[in-house]
Amino acid sequence: MRAIVVGAGIGGLAATLSLRRAGHEVTLAEQTSQFTEIGAGIQLAPNATRVLRRLDLLDTVAAQAVHPSHLTFRTWSDGAEICRYLLGREAEEEFGAPYLLLHRADLHQALAAAVPPRSVRLNTAVVGIDQDDESACVTTASGERLRADLVVAADGIRSAARQWLFGADEAVFSKTAAYRALLPAGEVADLGLPELGVWLGPGRHFVHYWVRRGELLNVVAVFTAEAAQESWTARAEPGEQLREFDGWDSRVLRVLERAGQVFRYGIYTRAPLARWNVGRVTLLGDSAHAMVPFQAQGAAQAILDAAVLGDALTGATPAEVPDALDRYVRRRLSAATSMQARAARAGDEFHLPDGPEAQARNARMAGYATANGFLPQATAWRADVLDEQTPS
Ligand SMILES: Cc1cc2nc3c(=O)[nH]c(=O)nc-3n(C[C@H](O)[C@H](O)[C@H](O)COP(=O)(O)OP(=O)(O)OC[C@H]3O[C@@H](n4cnc5c(N)ncnc54)[C@H](O)[C@@H]3O)c2cc1C
Repeated sequence: MRAIVVGAGIGGLAATLSLRRAGHEVTLAEQTSQFTEIGAGIQLAPNATRVLRRLDLLDTVAAQAVHPSHLTFRTWSDGAEICRYLLGREAEEEFGAPYLLLHRADLHQALAAAVPPRSVRLNTAVVGIDQDDESACVTTASGERLRADLVVAADGIRSAARQWLFGADEAVFSKTAAYRALLPAGEVADLGLPELGVWLGPGRHFVHYWVRRGELLNVVAVFTAEAAQESWTARAEPGEQLREFDGWDSRVLRVLERAGQVFRYGIYTRAPLARWNVGRVTLLGDSAHAMVPFQAQGAAQAILDAAVLGDALTGATPAEVPDALDRYVRRRLSAATSMQARAARAGDEFHLPDGPEAQARNARMAGYATANGFLPQATAWRADVLDEQTPS
């Protein structure tokens, strides 16, 4: 069969590879003139790295990554440890795949390099999608019409396809924004920062992790905000991040002080949908379920979508596409929607004001870590859940 995938982000690339693995011919239409990912980090949990293994990309990606042994949570003012969750060898043994910390460009390049150039159409903005009983068709900005048996719209949080399929709904501002920066390791070597850490404070949290084999430190400092632009390239005012995190643990402040180029990113989500597909067209990734990044699972969920989509379409004929897309959505929608809700709850919990509620949260987290070892989120990485989502 022939498929058109709209958008060459992590979701669209993974979908292209999964559909090709299922034996289908794919055209990947991307509006930009080259494959691009922004300079930032990304965490990939075992539910996603397991799919990378299926796509024969795990070794390539893991060679560029940092393999954390723990995730450590600390309190904002003095950096006291709240708890630490296991992410290293124990997690890999338990969940069958590693937890990785990556530069986005390394992940994106590994995915893009696996797509044959003849499948890719850069400079191809899709401006419309229509369908009949036999096929689906995309219209490009240059007026071309590309026809296929199915169309996968992986066109991101600002998805136009979502509007064409389900009517106008806008991305929703989460009332949070993040300062983002990447620092060369030499700038922060003296601070003794572990591979992955999160500091929790009133209305804010601070995340750091090493990427690219430890050459760079990725920083995401989240704060509540009345308004902020959803842009990966908007720059913060000089020193703005230090004023926002005034009074925080000295290690946090030193990192924020030494960050050269700081970006300011407004965090938006999409409301959960009752369905993602209509006939021969479906959403995938952020277009379907953009979430706040407080569980580091947005891209992982897009990668899972791609794996399940490939499975649902394995052996399908053109006439069976609508049913196969129904199967894909049935297997993914509730899991992705729960992860959206889990991420939103995490934000509320992370940002509690100092006082009894925050103390109770800290005690709960420490108790859970002692009893279970792994993060609460890890229940969604378990083999039985994964088998439902991504049969190997
Ligand atoms: C601060 C932050 C930190 C995050 N950290 C993590 C993390 O640690 N782990 C994790 O798993 N997730 C994380 N995420 C979430 C993750 O970044 C996203 O969920 C993921 O990148 C979405 O991928 P996508 O392919 O669905 O969309 P996108 O990456 O947005 O890709 C969409 C693509 O479609 C193209 N496009 C759009 N419209 C058209 C059109 N009309 N025609 C053709 N092409 C089009 C775009 O140019 C783009 O290339 C984080 C998010 C944020 C904001």
